[in-house]
Amino acid sequence: MKALIVFSGGQDSTTCLGWAKNNYQEIEAISFFYNQKHSIELEKSIEICKIINIKQIIINIDFLKNLVNSALISNGDVNKNHQDNNNLPASFVPNRNALFLTLAHSYAQKIKAHDIITGTCQTDYSGYPDCRRDFIDNLETTLNLGSDTNIKIITPLMYLTKAETFKLAQDNQCLDLILNYSHTCYNGSQLKNEWGYGCGECPACLLRKKGFYEFIKN
Ligand code: ZN
Repeated sequence: MKALIVFSGGQDSTTCLGWAKNNYQEIEAISFFYNQKHSIELEKSIEICKIINIKQIIINIDFLKNLVNSALISNGDVNKNHQDNNNLPASFVPNRNALFLTLAHSYAQKIKAHDIITGTCQTDYSGYPDCRRDFIDNLETTLNLGSDTNIKIITPLMYLTKAETFKLAQDNQCLDLILNYSHTCYNGSQLKNEWGYGCGECPACLLRKKGFYEFIKN
């Protein structure tokens, strides 16, 4: 079986990569440049793919900056609410996951991948509605209807806490990659901590830090 991983270079997708290496005969990675402020994440994704010898394709979708408001793309405080939707965090990028998964679904057909793997998670809910399984299920159905395919979208982390995600990385021999390479920080900080790289203050860092200390306690 072959899988295509939507790979950002962050903690979650790096854990998925480690998991997939142990669960598929063949894997490839697809990564996106969307003008993210934390583009260090993408640089790290390239390094990680080289280290574990995974073929990676990088797709430029930086036109997204002309279409949406997000504190991940333009200036703005990632700790505030989204300027277009008060219920969502400022870091939300409208339709980012739909776009990533739609493009991944196109490429999966070309490389004959049976599964697409994404690190979205609804447990330690970051406030992104497009990370929920309900959304993924509906998109999977829609994309397969549109292409007459039966490609599954697999979400190994969907119901795990961040601490459990650290444990899964350890069980799949990729904890070192997580701590020494993966970047998740919304501010793209390259400060090295016990729990990995990050500013320690943005929502992504707070979640990662809390999860790490819960993980080492158990
Ligand atoms: Zn941070």
